[in-house]
Amino acid sequence: MSALDIRIHDISKHYGPVMALDSVSLNVDQGEFVTLLGPSGSGKTTLLMVVAGFAMPDAGTISIGKHDITHTPPYRRGIGVVFQNYALFPHMTVRENIEFPLRMRGILRSKRRRMADHSIGVVRLDGLSNRMPDQLSGGQKQRVALARAMVFNPPVLLMDEPLSALDKKLREHMQLELKDLQQRLGITVLYVTHDQQEALTLSSRIAVINHGRVEQFDRSARIYDMPANRFVAEFIGETNLFPSVALKTDGSRMVAHLKGCGDTEARACSMLQPGQKGYLSVRPEKLVLVNGSATDICALKGRLENIIHQGDSIKYYIRPDTVDTAGDGGMIVMKMHNRGDSPLSRTGETICFGWRPRDATFVA
Ligand code: ADP
Ligand code: MG
Repeated sequence: MSALDIRIHDISKHYGPVMALDSVSLNVDQGEFVTLLGPSGSGKTTLLMVVAGFAMPDAGTISIGKHDITHTPPYRRGIGVVFQNYALFPHMTVRENIEFPLRMRGILRSKRRRMADHSIGVVRLDGLSNRMPDQLSGGQKQRVALARAMVFNPPVLLMDEPLSALDKKLREHMQLELKDLQQRLGITVLYVTHDQQEALTLSSRIAVINHGRVEQFDRSARIYDMPANRFVAEFIGETNLFPSVALKTDGSRMVAHLKGCGDTEARACSMLQPGQKGYLSVRPEKLVLVNGSATDICALKGRLENIIHQGDSIKYYIRPDTVDTAGDGGMIVMKMHNRGDSPLSRTGETICFGWRPRDATFVA
Protein backbone atom coordinates (compact mmCIF):
# COMPACT_ATOMS: atom_id res chain seq x y z
CA MET A 1 0.00 0.00 0.00
CA SER A 2 1.31 3.51 -0.71
CA ALA A 3 1.54 6.30 1.84
CA LEU A 4 -1.49 8.41 2.73
CA ASP A 5 -1.87 11.78 4.43
CA ILE A 6 -3.33 12.29 7.92
CA ARG A 7 -5.67 15.19 8.62
CA ILE A 8 -6.36 16.03 12.25
CA HIS A 9 -9.13 18.61 12.49
CA ASP A 10 -10.14 20.48 15.64
CA ILE A 11 -9.68 17.53 18.00
CA SER A 12 -10.57 18.03 21.67
CA LYS A 13 -10.44 15.45 24.42
CA HIS A 14 -11.14 15.68 28.17
CA TYR A 15 -10.33 13.20 30.91
CA GLY A 16 -12.74 14.40 33.62
CA PRO A 17 -11.61 17.96 34.40
CA VAL A 18 -8.31 17.55 32.50
CA MET A 19 -8.27 19.06 29.01
CA ALA A 20 -5.83 16.64 27.37
CA LEU A 21 -6.35 18.08 23.84
CA ASP A 22 -7.72 21.52 23.08
CA SER A 23 -8.81 22.07 19.45
CA VAL A 24 -5.78 20.46 17.84
CA SER A 25 -5.50 20.67 14.04
CA LEU A 26 -2.61 19.51 11.91
CA ASN A 27 -1.94 17.76 8.62
CA VAL A 28 0.75 15.22 7.91
CA ASP A 29 1.44 15.06 4.20
CA GLN A 30 1.82 11.83 2.26
CA GLY A 31 5.27 10.35 2.99
CA GLU A 32 6.11 13.04 5.52
CA PHE A 33 7.77 12.60 8.94
CA VAL A 34 6.01 14.81 11.51
CA THR A 35 6.87 14.83 15.20
CA LEU A 36 4.72 15.81 18.16
CA LEU A 37 7.14 17.37 20.62
CA GLY A 38 6.19 18.52 24.09
CA PRO A 39 6.82 18.04 27.80
CA SER A 40 5.41 15.11 29.74
CA GLY A 41 1.63 15.40 30.16
CA SER A 42 1.18 17.76 27.21
CA GLY A 43 -1.20 15.42 25.35
CA LYS A 44 1.13 13.72 22.82
CA THR A 45 0.11 10.13 23.60
CA THR A 46 -3.55 11.10 23.76
CA LEU A 47 -3.37 12.58 20.25
CA LEU A 48 -1.59 9.51 18.90
CA MET A 49 -4.17 7.23 20.52
CA VAL A 50 -6.99 9.29 19.00
CA VAL A 51 -5.41 8.87 15.54
CA ALA A 52 -4.91 5.13 16.18
CA GLY A 53 -8.49 4.76 17.38
CA PHE A 54 -7.70 3.65 20.95
CA ALA A 55 -9.14 6.88 22.39
CA MET A 56 -12.34 8.64 21.30
CA PRO A 57 -12.21 12.43 20.89
CA ASP A 58 -14.99 14.64 22.36
CA ALA A 59 -14.99 16.73 19.18
CA GLY A 60 -13.23 16.97 15.83
CA THR A 61 -12.39 14.59 13.00
CA ILE A 62 -9.52 12.41 11.81
CA SER A 63 -9.07 11.53 8.15
CA ILE A 64 -6.58 9.24 6.47
CA GLY A 65 -6.37 9.68 2.71
CA LYS A 66 -9.90 10.36 1.53
CA HIS A 67 -11.60 8.64 4.46
CA ASP A 68 -13.00 10.10 7.66
CA ILE A 69 -12.01 7.44 10.19
CA THR A 70 -13.12 9.25 13.37
CA HIS A 71 -15.55 6.44 14.17
CA THR A 72 -13.69 3.54 12.57
CA PRO A 73 -12.47 0.87 15.04
CA PRO A 74 -8.66 0.66 15.41
CA TYR A 75 -8.20 -2.69 13.64
CA ARG A 76 -9.96 -1.38 10.53
CA ARG A 77 -7.86 1.80 10.25
CA GLY A 78 -4.87 -0.07 8.80
CA ILE A 79 -2.42 1.99 10.87
CA GLY A 80 0.84 0.60 12.24
CA VAL A 81 1.54 1.56 15.86
CA VAL A 82 4.75 1.31 17.89
CA PHE A 83 3.93 1.82 21.56
CA GLN A 84 6.29 3.42 24.04
CA ASN A 85 6.91 0.20 26.03
CA TYR A 86 7.03 -1.93 22.81
CA ALA A 87 4.11 -4.08 24.10
CA LEU A 88 5.64 -7.31 22.73
CA PHE A 89 3.84 -10.55 23.60
CA PRO A 90 6.22 -12.18 26.10
CA HIS A 91 5.08 -15.75 25.38
CA MET A 92 5.64 -15.46 21.60
CA THR A 93 8.90 -15.66 19.66
CA VAL A 94 10.16 -12.75 17.60
CA ARG A 95 8.65 -14.30 14.46
CA GLU A 96 5.29 -14.99 16.15
CA ASN A 97 5.16 -11.42 17.42
CA ILE A 98 5.80 -10.05 13.96
CA GLU A 99 3.31 -12.42 12.31
CA PHE A 100 0.59 -11.57 14.82
CA PRO A 101 -1.04 -8.67 12.87
CA LEU A 102 -1.07 -10.89 9.77
CA ARG A 103 -2.76 -13.74 11.65
CA MET A 104 -5.38 -11.26 12.92
CA ARG A 105 -6.01 -10.30 9.29
CA GLY A 106 -6.52 -13.95 8.31
CA ILE A 107 -3.49 -14.09 6.02
CA LEU A 108 -2.44 -17.63 5.07
CA ARG A 109 0.55 -19.22 6.73
CA SER A 110 2.91 -19.31 3.73
CA LYS A 111 2.24 -15.68 2.84
CA ARG A 112 2.56 -14.69 6.50
CA ARG A 113 5.99 -16.26 6.57
CA ARG A 114 7.13 -14.41 3.48
CA MET A 115 5.86 -11.05 4.72
CA ALA A 116 7.38 -11.54 8.18
CA ASP A 117 10.74 -12.57 6.68
CA HIS A 118 10.74 -9.41 4.62
CA SER A 119 10.04 -7.24 7.69
CA ILE A 120 12.69 -9.08 9.72
CA GLY A 121 15.19 -8.28 6.98
CA VAL A 122 14.17 -4.63 6.80
CA VAL A 123 14.85 -4.07 10.51
CA ARG A 124 17.92 -6.35 10.41
CA LEU A 125 16.81 -8.98 12.89
CA ASP A 126 17.86 -11.95 10.75
CA GLY A 127 18.97 -14.87 12.89
CA LEU A 128 16.92 -13.79 15.92
CA SER A 129 13.47 -14.90 14.80
CA ASN A 130 13.21 -17.80 17.23
CA ARG A 131 14.23 -15.87 20.34
CA MET A 132 11.77 -14.87 23.05
CA PRO A 133 11.44 -11.12 23.84
CA ASP A 134 13.24 -11.48 27.18
CA GLN A 135 16.31 -12.78 25.30
CA LEU A 136 16.63 -9.51 23.38
CA SER A 137 18.38 -6.22 24.11
CA GLY A 138 16.41 -2.96 24.23
CA GLY A 139 17.40 -2.04 20.68
CA GLN A 140 16.41 -5.46 19.37
CA LYS A 141 13.00 -5.33 21.12
CA GLN A 142 12.48 -1.94 19.59
CA ARG A 143 13.15 -3.42 16.13
CA VAL A 144 10.66 -6.24 16.74
CA ALA A 145 7.99 -3.69 17.66
CA LEU A 146 8.83 -1.73 14.51
CA ALA A 147 8.75 -4.83 12.29
CA ARG A 148 5.39 -5.84 13.79
CA ALA A 149 3.97 -2.37 13.11
CA MET A 150 5.17 -2.39 9.49
CA VAL A 151 4.60 -6.00 8.49
CA PHE A 152 1.20 -5.41 6.85
CA ASN A 153 2.53 -2.41 4.84
CA PRO A 154 0.41 0.24 6.55
CA PRO A 155 0.12 3.58 4.73
CA VAL A 156 0.63 5.35 8.05
CA LEU A 157 2.92 4.57 11.00
CA LEU A 158 2.48 6.03 14.50
CA MET A 159 5.30 5.84 17.04
CA ASP A 160 5.15 6.87 20.70
CA GLU A 161 8.62 7.60 22.13
CA PRO A 162 9.97 4.37 20.60
CA LEU A 163 13.59 5.12 21.49
CA SER A 164 13.23 6.54 24.99
CA ALA A 165 14.32 3.33 26.74
CA LEU A 166 17.62 3.12 24.84
CA ASP A 167 20.93 4.59 25.90
CA LYS A 168 22.25 7.65 24.07
CA LYS A 169 24.57 5.96 21.54
CA LEU A 170 22.01 3.35 20.52
CA ARG A 171 19.26 5.96 20.43
CA GLU A 172 21.26 8.10 18.01
CA HIS A 173 22.02 5.07 15.86
CA MET A 174 18.35 4.05 15.79
CA GLN A 175 17.33 7.61 14.88
CA LEU A 176 19.42 7.39 11.72
CA GLU A 177 18.02 3.93 10.95
CA LEU A 178 14.45 5.10 11.44
CA LYS A 179 14.95 8.09 9.19
CA ASP A 180 16.59 5.96 6.52
CA LEU A 181 13.83 3.34 6.74
CA GLN A 182 11.08 5.95 6.52
CA GLN A 183 12.68 7.48 3.44
CA ARG A 184 13.21 4.13 1.75
CA LEU A 185 9.62 2.99 2.36
CA GLY A 186 8.16 6.45 1.72
CA ILE A 187 5.76 5.84 4.60
CA THR A 188 3.83 8.62 6.41
CA VAL A 189 5.00 8.87 10.03
CA LEU A 190 3.51 10.64 13.03
CA TYR A 191 6.09 10.37 15.80
CA VAL A 192 6.04 11.36 19.47
CA THR A 193 8.99 12.44 21.58
CA HIS A 194 9.83 14.79 24.45
CA ASP A 195 13.44 14.95 23.21
CA GLN A 196 13.99 18.06 21.10
CA GLN A 197 17.24 16.81 19.58
CA GLU A 198 15.49 13.68 18.40
CA ALA A 199 12.66 15.74 16.91
CA LEU A 200 15.12 17.99 15.05
CA THR A 201 17.08 14.98 13.74
CA LEU A 202 14.10 13.03 12.44
CA SER A 203 11.37 15.35 11.31
CA SER A 204 10.50 17.40 8.28
CA ARG A 205 8.02 19.29 10.45
CA ILE A 206 7.51 19.52 14.20
CA ALA A 207 4.33 20.30 16.13
CA VAL A 208 5.27 21.71 19.54
CA ILE A 209 2.54 20.78 22.03
CA ASN A 210 1.91 22.24 25.47
CA HIS A 211 -1.16 21.79 27.69
CA GLY A 212 -3.04 20.06 24.86
CA ARG A 213 -2.52 22.90 22.37
CA VAL A 214 -0.27 23.22 19.34
CA GLU A 215 2.07 26.14 20.08
CA GLN A 216 3.80 26.01 16.68
CA PHE A 217 3.70 23.69 13.69
CA ASP A 218 6.52 24.36 11.28
CA ARG A 219 9.62 23.09 9.52
CA SER A 220 12.27 21.95 12.00
CA ALA A 221 14.77 24.68 11.14
CA ARG A 222 12.14 27.40 11.54
CA ILE A 223 11.01 26.05 14.89
CA TYR A 224 14.58 26.57 16.10
CA ASP A 225 15.39 29.82 14.28
CA MET A 226 12.01 31.54 14.53
CA PRO A 227 10.14 30.33 17.60
CA ALA A 228 6.53 31.56 17.71
CA ASN A 229 6.51 32.33 21.41
CA ARG A 230 8.49 32.12 24.63
CA PHE A 231 7.48 28.54 25.36
CA VAL A 232 8.81 27.28 22.03
CA ALA A 233 11.98 29.38 22.30
CA GLU A 234 12.80 27.87 25.70
CA PHE A 235 11.64 24.33 24.99
CA ILE A 236 13.66 23.85 21.79
CA GLY A 237 17.33 24.25 22.56
CA GLU A 238 18.78 26.86 24.83
CA THR A 239 18.20 30.58 24.50
CA ASN A 240 18.84 34.00 26.05
CA LEU A 241 15.71 36.09 26.67
CA PHE A 242 16.01 39.87 26.91
CA PRO A 243 12.85 41.67 28.11
CA SER A 244 11.88 44.21 25.47
CA VAL A 245 8.98 46.08 23.88
CA ALA A 246 7.86 45.96 20.24
CA LEU A 247 8.02 49.43 18.64
CA LYS A 248 7.45 49.11 14.90
CA THR A 249 6.43 45.98 13.09
CA ASP A 250 6.44 45.25 9.38
CA GLY A 251 5.59 41.64 8.60
CA SER A 252 8.37 39.44 9.90
CA ARG A 253 10.78 42.37 10.55
CA MET A 254 10.44 44.69 13.50
CA VAL A 255 12.14 47.16 15.81
CA ALA A 256 12.23 46.43 19.52
CA HIS A 257 13.33 48.55 22.43
CA LEU A 258 15.74 46.79 24.73
CA LYS A 259 16.30 48.41 28.11
CA GLY A 260 19.95 49.38 28.56
CA CYS A 261 20.76 48.96 24.88
CA GLY A 262 18.28 51.04 22.90
CA ASP A 263 16.31 50.25 19.78
CA THR A 264 17.31 47.27 17.72
CA GLU A 265 16.00 45.34 14.73
CA ALA A 266 14.80 41.78 15.12
CA ARG A 267 12.61 39.18 13.47
CA ALA A 268 9.17 38.06 14.60
CA CYS A 269 7.25 34.93 13.75
CA SER A 270 3.81 36.02 14.95
CA MET A 271 1.73 39.17 14.48
CA LEU A 272 2.62 41.91 16.96
CA GLN A 273 1.10 45.16 18.15
CA PRO A 274 3.31 48.20 18.78
CA GLY A 275 3.75 48.51 22.54
CA GLN A 276 3.52 44.75 23.05
CA LYS A 277 5.86 43.44 25.72
CA GLY A 278 7.94 40.35 25.14
CA TYR A 279 11.50 39.10 24.84
CA LEU A 280 14.26 39.10 22.30
CA SER A 281 15.35 35.48 22.01
CA VAL A 282 19.00 35.02 20.99
CA ARG A 283 20.55 31.54 20.83
CA PRO A 284 23.87 31.09 22.71
CA GLU A 285 25.74 30.20 19.50
CA LYS A 286 24.50 33.40 17.82
CA LEU A 287 26.22 35.65 20.37
CA VAL A 288 29.56 37.01 19.17
CA LEU A 289 32.41 39.00 20.67
CA VAL A 290 32.40 42.62 19.49
CA ASN A 291 35.56 44.63 18.92
CA GLY A 292 34.31 48.19 18.88
CA SER A 293 33.96 48.95 15.19
CA ALA A 294 31.02 46.72 14.26
CA THR A 295 27.98 48.95 13.84
CA ASP A 296 25.35 46.45 12.69
CA ILE A 297 25.49 44.64 15.98
CA CYS A 298 23.49 45.24 19.12
CA ALA A 299 26.43 45.44 21.52
CA LEU A 300 26.41 44.92 25.26
CA LYS A 301 28.99 44.70 28.02
CA GLY A 302 29.26 42.19 30.79
CA ARG A 303 31.55 40.32 33.14
CA LEU A 304 32.69 36.82 32.23
CA GLU A 305 31.79 34.73 35.27
CA ASN A 306 32.20 31.13 34.23
CA ILE A 307 33.70 29.02 31.44
CA ILE A 308 32.41 25.50 30.89
CA HIS A 309 34.13 23.09 28.52
CA GLN A 310 31.69 20.68 26.90
CA GLY A 311 34.03 18.82 24.58
CA ASP A 312 32.96 20.01 21.15
CA SER A 313 31.92 23.43 22.44
CA ILE A 314 32.67 25.94 25.18
CA LYS A 315 30.03 27.86 27.12
CA TYR A 316 30.66 31.30 28.58
CA TYR A 317 28.41 32.64 31.33
CA ILE A 318 28.25 36.43 31.30
CA ARG A 319 26.67 38.77 33.85
CA PRO A 320 25.40 41.73 31.81
CA ASP A 321 26.11 45.31 32.90
CA THR A 322 23.05 47.17 31.74
CA VAL A 323 20.38 44.84 30.36
CA ASP A 324 18.12 42.40 32.13
CA THR A 325 17.79 38.83 31.10
CA ALA A 326 15.06 36.37 31.97
CA GLY A 327 17.58 33.51 31.96
CA ASP A 328 18.90 31.42 34.84
CA GLY A 329 20.28 33.62 37.62
CA GLY A 330 20.40 36.70 35.37
CA MET A 331 23.21 35.19 33.32
CA ILE A 332 23.71 35.26 29.57
CA VAL A 333 25.08 32.17 27.85
CA MET A 334 27.39 32.41 24.84
CA LYS A 335 28.51 29.23 23.08
CA MET A 336 31.45 28.72 20.71
CA HIS A 337 32.87 25.75 18.87
CA ASN A 338 35.93 24.37 20.57
CA ARG A 339 38.58 25.09 17.97
CA GLY A 340 41.41 24.94 20.48
CA ASP A 341 42.03 28.69 20.40
CA SER A 342 39.41 30.11 22.76
CA PRO A 343 39.57 33.92 22.69
CA LEU A 344 38.45 34.05 26.32
CA SER A 345 40.32 32.25 29.03
CA ARG A 346 40.04 34.33 32.18
CA THR A 347 36.92 34.80 34.26
CA GLY A 348 36.42 38.21 35.81
CA GLU A 349 37.25 40.25 32.70
CA THR A 350 34.77 42.63 31.13
CA ILE A 351 33.82 41.69 27.59
CA CYS A 352 31.83 43.29 24.82
CA PHE A 353 29.41 41.01 23.01
CA GLY A 354 26.34 41.20 20.83
CA TRP A 355 24.34 39.73 17.96
CA ARG A 356 23.24 40.53 14.42
CA PRO A 357 19.60 41.70 14.08
CA ARG A 358 18.64 38.65 12.02
CA ASP A 359 19.77 36.39 14.86
CA ALA A 360 17.25 37.83 17.34
CA THR A 361 13.59 36.80 17.34
CA PHE A 362 10.95 38.72 19.27
CA VAL A 363 8.71 36.36 21.22
CA ALA A 364 5.70 37.21 23.34
P1 ADP B 1 2.06 12.95 27.12
O1 ADP B 1 2.01 11.74 26.26
O2 ADP B 1 2.38 14.21 26.38
O3 ADP B 1 2.98 12.78 28.31
P2 ADP B 1 -0.70 12.30 27.75
O4 ADP B 1 -1.41 12.38 26.45
O5 ADP B 1 -0.35 10.94 28.23
O6 ADP B 1 0.61 13.23 27.72
O7 ADP B 1 -1.57 13.00 28.88
C1 ADP B 1 -2.17 14.28 28.72
C2 ADP B 1 -2.98 14.62 29.96
O8 ADP B 1 -4.09 13.75 30.07
C3 ADP B 1 -2.19 14.45 31.25
O9 ADP B 1 -2.61 15.45 32.14
C4 ADP B 1 -2.61 13.07 31.74
O10 ADP B 1 -2.50 12.99 33.12
C5 ADP B 1 -4.04 12.99 31.27
N1 ADP B 1 -4.46 11.60 30.95
C6 ADP B 1 -3.92 10.83 29.98
N2 ADP B 1 -4.53 9.62 29.93
C7 ADP B 1 -5.49 9.65 30.89
C8 ADP B 1 -6.49 8.71 31.34
N3 ADP B 1 -6.63 7.51 30.76
N4 ADP B 1 -7.28 9.10 32.36
C9 ADP B 1 -7.17 10.32 32.92
N5 ADP B 1 -6.26 11.24 32.55
C10 ADP B 1 -5.43 10.93 31.54
MG1 MG C 1 3.15 9.95 26.41
